[in-house]
Amino acid sequence: MASFLANPTILPPYISSEIALIKSLPNVNILSSTSSFLTIRIQTTPHRTLNATFTFPTGYPTAGVVASLDNTGVKGSLVVPPHLKKLLETQCADVLAKNPPSSTATLDAPGDKATSQVYLVAAHLSSFIGSNLFVPLWKELRNITSHLTSSNTDAFTATLKTNATTGRIAITLAEGDYKYNVSLRVDPLYPDVSPAQTDEDVVNRQALKMTVTSNLPEFLTNIVTGQANEVIRRCYDGVVPEAAVRLSNPVRVATNFTDVVQVTESMDVTSLKSMQRDVDTLKVVSQLKNVNNAKVVDGHRGKVFENTTKERQDARRNLKKLARSEMEADGETARLEEQKAREAAKVSQDGYVARMSEPQPCLSVTVMFLVDNFKNVRNEMCGVCHDKILNDDPTTYVKREKKAGESDEEKKSRRAWEKNHRDKMPVRVHCGHYYHTKCLDDYMTEPPFGRCCGVPGCDRPVYFTGYPDDKSILERNYSNRQARIREVEDAAMLF
Ligand SMILES: [Zn+2]
Ligand SMILES: [Zn+2]
Repeated sequence: MASFLANPTILPPYISSEIALIKSLPNVNILSSTSSFLTIRIQTTPHRTLNATFTFPTGYPTAGVVASLDNTGVKGSLVVPPHLKKLLETQCADVLAKNPPSSTATLDAPGDKATSQVYLVAAHLSSFIGSNLFVPLWKELRNITSHLTSSNTDAFTATLKTNATTGRIAITLAEGDYKYNVSLRVDPLYPDVSPAQTDEDVVNRQALKMTVTSNLPEFLTNIVTGQANEVIRRCYDGVVPEAAVRLSNPVRVATNFTDVVQVTESMDVTSLKSMQRDVDTLKVVSQLKNVNNAKVVDGHRGKVFENTTKERQDARRNLKKLARSEMEADGETARLEEQKAREAAKVSQDGYVARMSEPQPCLSVTVMFLVDNFKNVRNEMCGVCHDKILNDDPTTYVKREKKAGESDEEKKSRRAWEKNHRDKMPVRVHCGHYYHTKCLDDYMTEPPFGRCCGVPGCDRPVYFTGYPDDKSILERNYSNRQARIREVEDAAMLF
């Protein structure tokens, strides 16, 4: 026994046997061991890492071991947060209390699994870190819980269910008769993502996989969900969470956050090149299309008009070929995306204050975003009629199916409902404000043209997919329409 104390590098059989037992545990590595202490690291991913040190007091192993936890992880990575560290310390103390030191054990003989305190504590930590997917988002979950609890009112309720082993988080938001259920699956490597297994994975994998069911009109559900997914993607690209929310909304960024303009994603040579490729492709496509559509090109452009059938066939063939090669190029781009994003993040770290090189935690920011947007969308006003864009009763948005043997009366009523349904469907225009479909259509197609947004305080021009942003085209369309109406009226007068 004296030799162990004189030379700390020679380990007594009892401690050697404990080390051997610990080595059999999953996710555990021995960092250092002497006859007076033992340090181990429990690690499943860089973000699920914990160190534990066991100190052997005089009289060990009949005197109890002292265990302490250290949550400083590898530089730059997330580590076990203080609250979780405290919880684990309490659990370790429980394990030690339930398994008092053996009165018959001695340093000269090997120990066993049933009585080794060091092994029992290490086994507990290994199982916790190995099976609890919430370790890297412990702090975020605490934030969410308190945010959801404090945002509950008589009108608005939010509930949260979690399963640490499957990594599932279910959140139900309800206000009035509207519900927004979101189910999130946490990647085991969160905030990083597991390697792609298939080509499809390359595009689809996310640190948080989101599934949503809601009785909001589909358009609104898609807007909110789509933007939340964008937040998740940007966090993974290394954008700090607050900036991810701003940047995920292309609509409001440029005007409300002028400071962010110079902070836009820096362009490296690769992205400039690929952009040039896109422009070149578009040019070729438009040329080929002109050849193919020669018949409908203005008559006075004689040269184009004279394309032969063969020339048009060739053009169509080339177009197809081009589309194929573009698709292949896109696939390649997707495969290189992750690598490029990481490199770009590093390159632009100086110029782009909102970007870090490591994937950023996205759970808390995503959930807050969903809660705020779900609550706000119900108060949005139409930019034209200034009524609420959303009916209080969600069932008014449920599509009415055509019934078998429908009477004329029923058909008429269904048609009227369908028209009203289309007219009142909310849409969001470029400035970020909401309009009823029909209100917007009137606003865009009746003079005066090129009006600004009708929501008080917003004087940005109104743009929406499908409406030309050139005022003169809107004017011409309008006068053509008026001319047609006059023709019909004139014709009607004859009879
Ligand atoms: Zn309206
Ligand atoms: Zn607006």
